Amino acid sequence: MSLSITDRLRAGTVLGAEGYVFDLERRGYIKAGPFVPEVVLDFPDAVRELHREFLRAGADVMVALTYYAHREKLRDVGREDDLEAMNRQAVRIARQVAREGDALVAGNVCNTWAYDPDDPDTKQTVRAMYAEQLGWAAEEGIDFVISETNDYLGEALIALEVTRELGLPAMVTLAPTQPDKTRDGFGYAEACRILAAEGAQVVGLNCDRGPQTMLPLITDIREAVDCAVAVQPVPYRTDAAAPTMETLRSPDGQRAFPVALDPFGCTRFEMADFALQARELGANYVGICCGAGPHHVRAMAEALGREVPASKYSPSMDLHPMFRADVAAKDAAFLHSWTA
Ligand SMILES: [Zn+2]
Repeated sequence: MSLSITDRLRAGTVLGAEGYVFDLERRGYIKAGPFVPEVVLDFPDAVRELHREFLRAGADVMVALTYYAHREKLRDVGREDDLEAMNRQAVRIARQVAREGDALVAGNVCNTWAYDPDDPDTKQTVRAMYAEQLGWAAEEGIDFVISETNDYLGEALIALEVTRELGLPAMVTLAPTQPDKTRDGFGYAEACRILAAEGAQVVGLNCDRGPQTMLPLITDIREAVDCAVAVQPVPYRTDAAAPTMETLRSPDGQRAFPVALDPFGCTRFEMADFALQARELGANYVGICCGAGPHHVRAMAEALGREVPASKYSPSMDLHPMFRADVAAKDAAFLHSWTA
């Protein structure tokens, strides 16, 4: 029998891999803008393949692609009638691939865009959305729930409550889009402390920030809680001038988010360094979010000391004709004056 998420976190670092929506958008199966995972019903093989690539790269968790598969978003694209089928099928696909290895299956909910801390009625709306999504996921069979990209502590607490009512372990992560607080005014570490006190098994941050601007927030969170800490940045080079992927601009001032971020992408080596730094800071669930590719995940897995199925094809540059021997002479011969 497969170990639970809490047992795995006790035993060592758990490697996460997300960014399904961004990658399937790049592959032509999801529409940028609404970012609704219609691909789950329309091209299930594409979802299966991406799960499999992350599994081969060493991901310990297959996250069901139900991100934005909630009532509010499906209504936007005229597919509200497909809501249940989309949610159930996403979990079935994740389960099927998880069983090809030794991965766990996570149900997945996210910020709804329906929550307003100043309007108590929206709490019931959000609760109903999470209850139906996670209810279907639990019936299909999940090992735990990831509630992610939370802008509001208040909304995250609703997801946590629904998860606990289903008797499932909860990982709850906040989207650090603001300098130091959630949109309802809680410092990130304080919000994580409250989530842990309310029973989350894993708390932390995901999405929006790249490694360089997300890691500095992890130290305070690590100090604030006794439970496991998760960190899943986007693989983009955010910095002090542009701390989130939404604030990155091209040299001519155009917003790069969400479909022109390519020039800011982190290499696999930068993500491998990130994985080591995250572990050093005491993070237990180390992963990657929007923008991720299997090459990043494999490099992170290998940096953490693992050999994974895709390691069979990890680089052997000593076998490349350009790099095997006499590199300087070959540069001179093949690259001519470009090497100057
Ligand atoms: Zn993301």
